[in-house]
Amino acid sequence: MISVEEARTRICAAIRPLGSEQVGLGEALGRVLAEDAVARVTQPPAAMSAMDGYAVRAADVATVPVRLTVVGEAPAGGAFEGTLRAGEAVRIFTGGPLPAGADSIVIQENVTVEGDKVLVREGTTAGRYVRPAGLDFKAGDVGLPCGRLLTVRDIGLAAAMNLPWLRVTRRPRIAILSTGDEIVMPGEPIGPNQIVGSNGLSLAAFVTACGGTALHLGIAPDDRAALKQMMAGAAGADLLVTSGGASVGEHDLVHGVLREHGMSLDFWQIAMRPGKPVMFGRFGTTAVLGMPGNPVSTLVCALVFLRPVIETMLGQAEPDARTATALLGADLPANDRRQDYLRAELTYDPQRGAVATPFGRQDSAMLRTLAHADCLIVRPPYAEAAAAGTTVAILPFSGGTIGI
Ligand code: AMP
Ligand code: MG
Repeated sequence: MISVEEARTRICAAIRPLGSEQVGLGEALGRVLAEDAVARVTQPPAAMSAMDGYAVRAADVATVPVRLTVVGEAPAGGAFEGTLRAGEAVRIFTGGPLPAGADSIVIQENVTVEGDKVLVREGTTAGRYVRPAGLDFKAGDVGLPCGRLLTVRDIGLAAAMNLPWLRVTRRPRIAILSTGDEIVMPGEPIGPNQIVGSNGLSLAAFVTACGGTALHLGIAPDDRAALKQMMAGAAGADLLVTSGGASVGEHDLVHGVLREHGMSLDFWQIAMRPGKPVMFGRFGTTAVLGMPGNPVSTLVCALVFLRPVIETMLGQAEPDARTATALLGADLPANDRRQDYLRAELTYDPQRGAVATPFGRQDSAMLRTLAHADCLIVRPPYAEAAAAGTTVAILPFSGGTIGI
């Protein structure tokens, strides 16, 4: 058996980032930048007011109350073209450019209007409520670095930087093939010894959530000819993911058929639970990742291996899966040589912080506990018995609809 880390390193070392394409900012959410996003404007372009009020010279309002003559107006999108002299003020609005000669803003709440004069009741200091030119960024600044997974906030920043389009990496095309005589698609007629397959659709959703394009090839029966025929659908894909048929039983044909198909393939027993048999290789330009069939094993292996593959293809600089820590909510026995990924619920104790309580039964066929888990507790090989309250590593699932 090889370790999770070794398998992950070997898999990722064999993957190269894909090419790039230009997309409009409206389609850029969740994509990965293929080059630095460089500001094309300076923001603010000139010193601007941050409040509604009066542009003044701070020295003029050092002693209050004091009367100033209002000599003009500077609305957002307009400007006072003259120069402010001693004893003068300019009516200004949020986003209005600071007139020449002025150095600060008195907010309107602190003045009383008296015809063409204002009585300033509270002074200000130089620079107060003024946003200097380039406060946010300057033309030529790198606002978002290459490799960045674009968030909603990043879209706002790119728009402000005057970038209506961005260069992002192409979405990986990922073919998915489920296998097994016993598997039918949800909604199909189901025979007496059959079960409804979930891996094809959960893997497709996983690929979509990670930024790839999924192509579900269907369910291949445990038959060499059929497997071979259906695998042909992966031609042109960046990656083929198979589920099931990856063990060493008589009906586990995927490995052999892939090899006959001309694929260079490594088959590993990985020291992890759930999930153990994983295949990885390449067929021309298509990489191949073979996953175990149990639905929880499939998704845990997707988290541990498929996500880094997609992130590498996307050229994503920082992995999305971040480990965290929590306190154990129940005692755990010592671990054996396999790294454990235990489905757990997270609660928050106001004094102690996050508490992760593993579900009592961790069978890899139980999808319901995976769906309801908030995190996976990661227990390294040979971890000692741990009492409730011990700090453990966790892989938290993200909130929202994505949930991986
Ligand atoms: P296998 O790796 O083919 O030996 O499958 C291991 C277990 O996972 C068996 O109980 C299969 O019935 C089950 N399994 C395989 N594929 C799927 C699938 N697509 N959806 C749900 N369960 C599956
Ligand atoms: Mg099978």
